[in-house]
Amino acid sequence: MNLSYVHLYSSSLMTSFLLKEVSANLHELLPLVDLDIRPLTFDSKNLLDGTHKDGAINHASCTIGTDGGNSNLGESKDSSKYSCPKRAIIDGFYLQRIYSRIIDKKESQLNHIHIVFDDILVCTYDENDKRYHARPIICGSPSVISIPSIIEGPAKPKGYYFKQMMKDLLCISSKEIENEFAGTFVTYDDPRLVQVTTGYAIQAIFFFLNNGNPFCSQYPCRLFNSHWQEELIYTQVINPVLCKEHLRLLAQDGN
Ligand SMILES: [Zn+2]
Repeated sequence: MNLSYVHLYSSSLMTSFLLKEVSANLHELLPLVDLDIRPLTFDSKNLLDGTHKDGAINHASCTIGTDGGNSNLGESKDSSKYSCPKRAIIDGFYLQRIYSRIIDKKESQLNHIHIVFDDILVCTYDENDKRYHARPIICGSPSVISIPSIIEGPAKPKGYYFKQMMKDLLCISSKEIENEFAGTFVTYDDPRLVQVTTGYAIQAIFFFLNNGNPFCSQYPCRLFNSHWQEELIYTQVINPVLCKEHLRLLAQDGN
């Protein structure tokens, strides 16, 4: 396919600042592609006002665990070892269906890619373990990239969760644990968030360049599907490269 346009949508002031830098990074990678940033006219928070009760949206006190991969958001309170502040979560595929209404028919061809950057926690339900998992990216038309899910999705170091679980026995505070592990995971005010978010935008673009497959098994490659914050920081910040195969694909179809 010939990629011609990438439309980036920001849902808030926060994502709007981030998107200016993400757009500049994408321009370096795709100099011939027409990039633009648009405000999202659809406010996802309005979806949580109780008027949509079709079961796709949940108000939940989320709990974050480590299961050797993505952190997960449990429904029950019995797994509240690693609790985070109460917040709304939303089903990513439901949100994607709602956002598909923003795409103008004139821009619905495959040479137009639409990516929404949201500041709501986006999750998908896993039938295997009956839990919600934070999903940084839902690919499609439009693709949805969730900033909170980038922070909460890929797991932090195992030692971080261990110390949080044992903090009373160890007589240390959460703040001390945060300080000890500072830098090992991305936070909301982290300048590395620009590069990490750029990486997810690149995955959203490759979803279309590579027949619906945004990920790569090569490590490092910016398309590597990071389940750990350590992997995310390495593939998007420390060594942000595309593997040979994906560089070839980009040269063939991306410009
Ligand atoms: Zn690759």
